[in-house]
Amino acid sequence: MAGLVPAIHVLDTEKKDVDARHEAGHDGKIDDLMPSLPSSVDIAIIGAGAAGLGAANALKDSGLSVIVLEARMRVGGRGHTIMATPDIAFDAGCGWLHSADKNSFVEIAGQLNFAIDKTRPPWREQSFDTGFPLAERMDFIKALDAFYDRAEEAAKSGRDSAANSYLEPGNRWNPMIDAISTYVNGCELDQVSIQDMDAYEDSEINWRIRRGYGALMAAYGAHCPLALNTQVTLIDHSGKRVRIETSRGTLAASKVIVTVPTNLIADESIRFHPPLPAKVDAARGLPLGLADKVMLALEDPDALPKDGNLRGATMRTAMGSFHLRPFGQPCIEGFFGGSFAQALEDAGSGALAAEAIDEIASLLGSDFRRKLKPLAESRWSHDPFARGSYSHALPGHAGDRAVLAVPVDGRLFFAGEATSPNFFSTAHGARDSGERAAEEVVAMLTKS
Ligand SMILES: Cc1cc2nc3c(=O)[nH]c(=O)nc-3n(C[C@H](O)[C@H](O)[C@H](O)COP(=O)(O)OP(=O)(O)OC[C@H]3O[C@@H](n4cnc5c(N)ncnc54)[C@H](O)[C@@H]3O)c2cc1C
Repeated sequence: MAGLVPAIHVLDTEKKDVDARHEAGHDGKIDDLMPSLPSSVDIAIIGAGAAGLGAANALKDSGLSVIVLEARMRVGGRGHTIMATPDIAFDAGCGWLHSADKNSFVEIAGQLNFAIDKTRPPWREQSFDTGFPLAERMDFIKALDAFYDRAEEAAKSGRDSAANSYLEPGNRWNPMIDAISTYVNGCELDQVSIQDMDAYEDSEINWRIRRGYGALMAAYGAHCPLALNTQVTLIDHSGKRVRIETSRGTLAASKVIVTVPTNLIADESIRFHPPLPAKVDAARGLPLGLADKVMLALEDPDALPKDGNLRGATMRTAMGSFHLRPFGQPCIEGFFGGSFAQALEDAGSGALAAEAIDEIASLLGSDFRRKLKPLAESRWSHDPFARGSYSHALPGHAGDRAVLAVPVDGRLFFAGEATSPNFFSTAHGARDSGERAAEEVVAMLTKS
């Protein structure tokens, strides 16, 4: 299909074609090789990301006929591990098991024999103290924590407002507090609801999957009934059964679970007939922010600490954050968020890598220009089946998560990270929401 852009750009010409073929999404030529769609099922699940797979796994022993319709040629959605080299696993989407003590993927990892790494995240560190000495870091963390306390206190009133209202006027750390928001929310604080920020449950325990979070999701989806390369364009719920139009034909279902990212509902790239304006409005109140990652191979890795960290700059919002040698691998993973990530994506392939190398070289010395080789970078806002990274509620729109989650007419059910009341924007929040939607479907069928 013309005009589709892969979520991941592999910065190596040999791999580029393979990458584009596997990432670009629907491909007409591949249709001929795919098994045909069933004409009718009890339950159709739209999207094979964490939410869709959570729903499909929950329905495994239900005795109902189920199909997961997925536009891409792979499962996992915004969870995607690629082997950037034979020894470097790169999670281009989710990487951290956030709130790991409450994260349902922890148990799944155990069941599927995926080793968990419990090394503490280095986010508050600056390796070698370079460009950001300890005393300055302590001062920044004090300002950051004070900002969170003010926003939390304000949220208790029940009124909503934009989080940037709680920055202390004139505080020198404000640009950097905003930078943290671009990583956490995928956008600057003026677009973040304090009620939504307050609803998020963070136990501050963060673990990782050694072989990759995306690889775990792929294993979790391995036994689900899937139709890949199948883009849903219309959900017609005007008749007795729901009619679903896809790029590979039409099928009918009794119940449908929709798990696609909010931006696709908001811009009606997946349509409902009759239309569902309340869902479209809710999705517009919960846009996906942007976070992008870049993976750089590192020559002479022993010169840098395992699981170290660097912030590219301190006094501005437009800067990267760099995880040195994740799991001890010979590489550096860069992370960019918000409007800076958008500008880098828009600047074209290779811009994230170039910026990352500039920032690292300015901290560690120009020698590093020679020691770093770009391997891959994500482009989530240009990905036609994501159009962003994770949802945040706009000021005044925290209640939209519940509106988006509510079923329609006992036949259309909604899941996906944006519908999670307290673990939104995460992979486990998405998975749990899929399970919740599956339970709603079963309860409805039992009632009727
Ligand atoms: C860079 C980045 C870093 C992240 N870091 C973390 C992290 O460390 N920890 C964490 O927990 N979370 C993280 N996340 C967020 C996490 O990845 C997502 O919240 C989660 O994976 C979303 O799952 P989902 O099922 O709701 O949506 P998705 O994964 O987007 O799944 C939806 C599926 O629907 C498919 N689809 C879309 N349109 C159609 C259509 N028309 N027809 C058929 N199928 C369609 C898509 O292809 C996709 O597979 C990160 C995300 C990104 C991008």
